[in-house]
Parts: sequence; structure tokens; C-alpha cells
Amino acid sequence: MMTFFSKITGVDYPWIKYSQITGRDYVAGAMENTTATIHQESAQQDARELVDGNNWEGTIAHELFHQWFGDYVTTESWSNLTVNESFADYSQTLWDEYKYGKDAGDAENFNGMQGYLMSGSENKQLVRFHYKDKEDMFDAVSYQKGGRILHMLRNYVGDSAFFKSLNNYLTTNKFKSAEAHQLRLAFEDVTGRDLNWFFNQWYFNSGHPSVDIDYQYDDAAGKVNVIIKQTQKSGKIFSLPLAIDVYDGANKKRYNVWVKNGVDTFTISYAKRPDLVNVDGDKVMLWVKKDNKTLDNYIHQYTHAGNYLDRREAIDFASKKLDDPKAVELIKTALTDKYHGLRNFAISKADLKKETVKTGFESVLLNLAKSDKYATVRASAIQKLGDYKKAEYADLFKKAVTDSSYTVAGNALAALIKVDPATSSALVKQLAEKPSKGILQEVVMSEILKSGDESMAEKIIGDFAKMPLSQGKFQALNGLATYLSAIKNAEKIKWGVDEIVKFRDAIPENFKNQTDPFINGMVLKGILADKTKKAKENAADTALQELVEYIKAKLPEADKKGF
Ligand SMILES: [Zn+2]
Repeated sequence: MMTFFSKITGVDYPWIKYSQITGRDYVAGAMENTTATIHQESAQQDARELVDGNNWEGTIAHELFHQWFGDYVTTESWSNLTVNESFADYSQTLWDEYKYGKDAGDAENFNGMQGYLMSGSENKQLVRFHYKDKEDMFDAVSYQKGGRILHMLRNYVGDSAFFKSLNNYLTTNKFKSAEAHQLRLAFEDVTGRDLNWFFNQWYFNSGHPSVDIDYQYDDAAGKVNVIIKQTQKSGKIFSLPLAIDVYDGANKKRYNVWVKNGVDTFTISYAKRPDLVNVDGDKVMLWVKKDNKTLDNYIHQYTHAGNYLDRREAIDFASKKLDDPKAVELIKTALTDKYHGLRNFAISKADLKKETVKTGFESVLLNLAKSDKYATVRASAIQKLGDYKKAEYADLFKKAVTDSSYTVAGNALAALIKVDPATSSALVKQLAEKPSKGILQEVVMSEILKSGDESMAEKIIGDFAKMPLSQGKFQALNGLATYLSAIKNAEKIKWGVDEIVKFRDAIPENFKNQTDPFINGMVLKGILADKTKKAKENAADTALQELVEYIKAKLPEADKKGF
């Protein structure tokens, strides 16, 4: 990663060493201190977690790229924070593209775009001179929107000019601070183009376009009108250079156009009606679109257009048309897409309530469950097969419970519970004795907690007691409360309550105003409410009456009301 970033920036890693440290209960995701990044605890993963892929790799890239964008050249002010964060964010796309291929990079870019679009930040400018609190700048605009803007800029100027401009920005401003204008000047210097329009629109203004795309075919005249209408509520009009690809079979002809008005119509002539007109051929636009294509267009797009988003859009569209056999066929094809992320997406769209899907997909799902080389795909396929509730799959699930991936093992256990409850409950007990994480741990724990199995008390309450004072222990409270509500043995319940109280009282004073309301008001009062109800139903059970008083005594005066 250090070599790759050195290569694309044309600036060797600028410092004498690089360390990565993890810290328990670290307040943020990670921090790019020069030469020494600190990560939160969850960056430490075990070998079985890494079977699914390294969830932390994006953050590792992000913090490392800050050593150039953030440390070597630092933002001039909080208002210009994006010259640090947009690059760190975009480095995740660059790294995935380099290491795992274009589909993986595009998937990361798409996720970032969704992160921004769902954040409801249309009114925030990328460079903002007015904000209430310094923390407000660390948001989906400075990070994810900034990253997507860089992706569009790269597409517009081309890879060679893009990376040369990054080098120009870094070397011109090294060991100094810079703002968005320095970035613009660096790009203008390399490309010879005026980029004020781009920076004014994306850096010093807010929002993004929403577009309706329509197609009017006129076979007699041999032409199609591609109508792009900007519908964003802000009323602002965006300038968007983009590609329109026109397909005749596998042959593609590209038209580069500028969208500049509220409504733009582009007329393209043809000898034979195109199989597909694909607006934003590179799928880089940061926008929300309503694209009025037909299912046939999308089928062609899936097969011939090639980009991750081309295929994803086609799968998504077909998944809403599952009464059409052609749509079912498209999803079935996508179950074996070359990119594992889209195989997973297609599996998630296999609606088994549709009989044609259920019968048509079964053998493909079985193959994926058995032999896909990606653990996450095997895990999704097993989960889907579990929904068939077929006893004949019990052996497959049982075998998969021992898979090295926690996700495969957890989904397999959940599927086995549906078809063979006796075997699975014995397995749950065995698995509870072994260390586990992720989905496997969730499934095992939720089974045990629900069961109220008294023989597991030593394990459940004991494990909680042994946990260090940590965020993880705080998160374990809900599960423990569920278990203490489900079991009957008064001594064990008291032990559990004592451990919760011990944890509550050990939390440092400055965090208590955040943690006490939850621990007293939700966790302890939740257990108390459950036991009070049972005590009322069993008035003769003196041990239960005493237990209620015991729990009540652990609560502060204000929380005792109502009991
Ligand atoms: Zn960052």
C-alpha cells in the first residue's frame, strides 16, 4: 500500500517510519498522526474474521493516504478540511481498484456515494466557512461527497493528468498548508484548462443533480432523442460533462456531451434501433437518477456495458420485475457474476416467494453454497438455502458450521436450526464453549439467551464478569439482560445483577452521565420489570419477592419509582 501510494502520487512515503497502533475504547475510527496512526480496537481481527476479507483495509488505506494528504500537506483551515478527508476517502477506492480490480473500486465508490446521498446534506458546501462546531466538518460531505467529486474530476481530466496534478499539489505545497484553490491551481497548471466552473460547482456550492432520463425513438427518421432533465428542488442547474454510449449488439459508439441546462436533448441517429443507450457510460456521476430504460435495455446493459454499476442497476431493475421470465433469467445469470459482490447482491434479490425463482435457482444456490471461493458468497447462499427448509440440506449445513469463516459458520448454524433443531441445540452448546466472533457468535448467543438454559450461566455471566472495562462490555449488556430475564435461579440472577452493578460503578465519572441512564433505566429496570411481573403472578414464591427487592436496592432512588 505504501509503495502503491508512493507510485500514484509520485512522492515517496514522506516520513522516516510508519507505525499502526490500536487503542481500546478509542473515541474515533482512527487518527492519522504523522508517522503513527492509531486505530480503534476492532482493527485487531483474528484469522477467522480475515477469511471474509479485511474489513479494516479501507481505514488502513485512508489513514495511510493522510500521511500525504493531511500530514505532508495540511488543510489551511477546518473549512477546507476536504483537502485532507476527500483524498483519504478516495484512497479507499483507489486501493480497492488496484488491489482487487475495477469492480471492487467501483463498488467502494458506489458505497461512498450512497453514504453521502443518504446523509441529507444537500445544503452543505464542501468548503464551508460557517459551521457550528469543529466536529460538524467531519461528515459525509467532507469525506464521501469529496471522494466522489475527485472520482468525477479524475474521469474528466483523465488518469495521467489526475495523478500528475496530485503530484503537483503535493510538491508545490509540501510541509505547508493548502486550501481548495491550491488544488484547483495544481490541476489547471497540469491540464491547461480553466477549472473554476468545476470547483465553483462542487467545492464552493452545495447539492447534487437529480435527473430524469427519457428516450424518444423514431425508427422512421432513424434517430433517438435522449432527454436529460434536471429536477433538483434547489433549482440550481449543474454542468455535467458525460458520455452517452450507444450499443448495437456488442458494438459501442461513444458520444461525449455536456449537460448544461434544465432540460437538454441530444439527438443521435441510427440505422437500426440501438439495443441500449447508456447515459453516463463510465458510471461516475454523483447524482440521483430516474432512468426510463426497458427490461430489454437493462438485459443488454448487464451483458455488454460492463461496469459494476451497469450490472448492479440491471440486477436491481430486474429484481422488481420477477413476474417476467426474462428478469428471472437475468438474476439467475447474475448469481454467477464474475464479481463476488454482485453475486451476493443477486442472491439477496432472489425472492423465494416467487415459484419460478425458488425452483429455478436452487441448484445454482447449492453450487455457490458448496464451492464459491468467496466465503461471503458461500455464507449468503447458505442463508438462502436455509429458507428452503429442506431436511436434505442438514448435512451440508452441519459441515459448514465448521467452516473457518464465522459468517459461513453462523449462517449455516442458523439454517440448521430451521431444519434440525435437535442437532443444532447440541451444537450451540458445544460452540458456546469455544471462542467465536461475528455472525457465529451472534447466532450462538441469541440461541442461548433465548433458551434460558441455566447450565450456561457460568459461561454467560462468567464471561461478562471477565470482560475488561470496555465498549465491548457495554454492548454485551443487552444480551446479558435478556438471559437474566429468561432464567429462574435466583442466585444466578443476583450474580448477574451484581456484575452489571460492578461494571456500572467502575465506569469513570465523566462517562457516567451517558452510561448510567442506560444501565439503570434500561438494563436493570428491564430485568426488574420482568421479575416484578413474574412475582405478581406467583405471589407465593417468596424467593422471587426477595429477588425483586434485591434488584430494586441496586437502583438509585429516582429509578425505583413505579416499582
Ligand atoms: Zn480521515
